[in-house]
Amino acid sequence: MPGMLKRELAGVLDPAELGMLYSAFDQIGGIVIVRIPDRLRHRRRLIGRTLLERVSPARSVFAQSSPVGGEHRTRGLELLAGEDSTLAEHKENGCRILVDVEKAFFSPRLSTERMRVASACSDGQTVVNMFGGVGAFSLAIAMRRKCTVYSIDINPEAARLCGINASRNRLRGRVVSVLGDAAAEAPGRGASRTLMVLPERSAEFLPAALEATERGGVIHYYAHTHSYKRAGAARAAEEGLAAACPSGLRVLRSASVRAVGPGYHQTVVDARVL
Ligand code: SAM
Repeated sequence: MPGMLKRELAGVLDPAELGMLYSAFDQIGGIVIVRIPDRLRHRRRLIGRTLLERVSPARSVFAQSSPVGGEHRTRGLELLAGEDSTLAEHKENGCRILVDVEKAFFSPRLSTERMRVASACSDGQTVVNMFGGVGAFSLAIAMRRKCTVYSIDINPEAARLCGINASRNRLRGRVVSVLGDAAAEAPGRGASRTLMVLPERSAEFLPAALEATERGGVIHYYAHTHSYKRAGAARAAEEGLAAACPSGLRVLRSASVRAVGPGYHQTVVDARVL
């Protein structure tokens, strides 16, 4: 929620302290996750209590204690206020998504991208979501289109939650949770669409994505690229994809999905398999 953090804490922190804050926090169901700069660490409990009171319907406030990292793309959390539980139900695009914010990756900041990809799918398609997490993209697609989505993830907790989410949203059979390495599990599935939402390592998995996707199908290739302009970031993503895969793909569209740091963007390239 961009800009909201400073608004919620106005009158609680002094103007110099407000100036040190990051502008946004994440709300995942009843859980608020905030990043606190080192110079404000001594104020973290006050920040937590204030957010718990002011953000509805918050029941827990956590500080992010380490960046998203590791094979499972998870992050460290420190409880600041409220209930010590990292399990939340997040509602998005008509889906109820059960998430353990400490044990599996989930970002509410991708909801618009999830809608875009879901809208691009058609009934009857087979979709491979190579890095499916708890199933947020997979559920959004299957909720909108009569597709079969293979949602692969190497994190047992993410795959378990994805299976539960498929059942809770009455999408069992349409969303199939697969626990395993996408390099082994994706090839041969005859996908008309393949999602690669692992921006740090997408290039490495391109051979498997190509083997997963039929001719004429589309690969959604996500990357992190450096540029101070959105258009430059999208161009850099196309160049990165061309370097990783010089032939066999035709670019349909590229864009910045969101800024992920000063001068850095998460980008997407949609490319047709020739
Ligand atoms: N698509 C999901 C989402 O948007 O919520 C999750 C994206 S998250 C950035 C990347 C996911 O890839 C993590 O859940 C991680 O466990 C998974 N992952 C990492 N390496 C993998 C691999 N080799 N095979 C399958 N999944 C993998």
